[in-house]
Amino acid sequence: MKNSCCIVKNSCNIRMMNSISIEQGKIAPLKKNISSDHTIIKGMTFTELQEWCIDKGESAYRGGQLFEWLYRHGITNIDEMSNIKKSFRDFLTLNASLETLTLESVSESNQESTQKYLFKTHESKFIESVSIIEKQRHTVCLSTQIGCNVDCDFCATGKMGFSRNLLTGEIVDQLLWVMRKTTLPVTNIVFMGMGEPFLNYKRVMDAADIFHHQRGFDLASTRITISTAGILPRIYQFITENRKYKLAISLNASDDITRTQIMPLNSKWPIKELIKAGKTYSELPRRRVMFEYVLLKNVNDSIEDAYRLHKLLNGVQCKLNLIPYNSMGGIFNRPDEDKIKEFAEYLYDRQTTYRVLVRRSKGKDINAACGQLAVNNKEKENL
Ligand code: SF4
Repeated sequence: MKNSCCIVKNSCNIRMMNSISIEQGKIAPLKKNISSDHTIIKGMTFTELQEWCIDKGESAYRGGQLFEWLYRHGITNIDEMSNIKKSFRDFLTLNASLETLTLESVSESNQESTQKYLFKTHESKFIESVSIIEKQRHTVCLSTQIGCNVDCDFCATGKMGFSRNLLTGEIVDQLLWVMRKTTLPVTNIVFMGMGEPFLNYKRVMDAADIFHHQRGFDLASTRITISTAGILPRIYQFITENRKYKLAISLNASDDITRTQIMPLNSKWPIKELIKAGKTYSELPRRRVMFEYVLLKNVNDSIEDAYRLHKLLNGVQCKLNLIPYNSMGGIFNRPDEDKIKEFAEYLYDRQTTYRVLVRRSKGKDINAACGQLAVNNKEKENL
């Protein structure tokens, strides 16, 4: 997964001087000819765009048109909005901005169809996304925060500290950039990049709604997965709101002592509570929770762990995703192949209400596990 990283020091380059304050929907200017009160309309939901248009003296219908131009067509220039009258396009040019992220680089794996995208935010911070192509399946892994304060021990992003939540537009823009650079249509979205999605709940849900909306990206709700380290109140909020998206919970241990060691938030929301929450989600129609389990050598990969895991999941309608850790020279290592096989087979032979999958990491040669490239490039922030 993720490795260690350096401390962030803000550089004082021109772009930073031009971009000091960031709040939802408003962003300081990148270019001299854009005034500071430009509204970032990328990231607004269908309803928000309708309301914004009405507020500007236009119709709700116009908001729907903007929504299509921004997301279905992914335009980068207001003048491309050919069915919008010139006077309103001029108004948009003066008052709205489509800019959120700058694409810094794309790293391509030599071995697999995996690409890693590095983006720079307006204040010169870095975030990343990963595009993974397997046959006709094209999955994009998105970031939701700059850094993360959940502090999982095996995670590079967790070592970076936390800068801020990403705006909805910055989350959506990651996908738009990937779509511009690849020819195969995106079939799946996973919120598993930098950050804890449920600590940026509203913006992540807004982004998912935009991805799902028929006039937006039109992706089925079952093709959008939100992954959480286990923010229990938000999991129940997600369930209560009857969100249609898939839920993945990072378990990563079979007992509370081990889990608290590698995921300190476990002392607040322990394993049994998470399993219970997952079970509640799976009781909703057509839902099945996914538990993720990163296999760490000599930490959580013993047969005793497999036994405890079986006891925990037996009776829960769920999937168990075993993810052998990508070693990166830190204190954690990937288990040997025969150990991975033994662990998986133990559970595979006993699976009842749960189904075991083993995920083989893609793009190891470019550190394609989420969190790694942004960390490796953080020195750029110190230039
Ligand atoms: S919640 Fe995710 S991004 Fe945050 S520290 Fe844990 S693994 Fe890393």
